[in-house]
Amino acid sequence: MNIAYIALGSNISPRESFLKDAISLLEEHEDITVLKKSAVYETAPVGYTEQNDFLNMAIQVKTELSPSLLLEYCQGIEEELGRKRVIKWGPRTIDLDILLYNQERMETEQLTIPHPHMHERAFVMVPLADVDAQAYLPHLQQTAGEVLGLLPSEEVRSMSKWGRIQ
Ligand code: ADP
Ligand code: MG
Repeated sequence: MNIAYIALGSNISPRESFLKDAISLLEEHEDITVLKKSAVYETAPVGYTEQNDFLNMAIQVKTELSPSLLLEYCQGIEEELGRKRVIKWGPRTIDLDILLYNQERMETEQLTIPHPHMHERAFVMVPLADVDAQAYLPHLQQTAGEVLGLLPSEEVRSMSKWGRIQ
């Protein structure tokens, strides 16, 4: 049994439905169980800023899938929900990023775990710490709560709690 954390983000309407549908599709897989869901946060886009605000959340899952099979399944969900890769870091119906997989560290062409930029991004670390402040980032040897405490506080405060998905 493996524990993984996945970040979800959407900034194309209906954002909440895309988050919900992605979680339902994860739950549909017999080898994935969604254990915990963070609150949903609304965040301004980073990088390419001429786009709508995002809804972001993180979930904790239990899975029998390997990291690469989990990524493949997540990418299938992105396809199914109609994600178009038009602009790098541009608008997306749904983005699923694997943040952590047990305490493993790996780097292949397709997959880097822990997710390389997770610790720099309030829109990842706030939801992750909400799901599990004790989640351990093996490459930094710090918990999610500790990493969150190091992020610029104005960035953290700029994220508003939007709601919850049942
Ligand atoms: P981003 O998530 O950076 O906005 P994409 O979702 O388009 O961009 O992902 C680009 C590529 O990142 C994917 O094709 C995937 O192979 C790769 N990737 C590397 N590590 C991860 C990870 N931990 N989780 C998800 N995708 C990853
Ligand atoms: Mg992604």
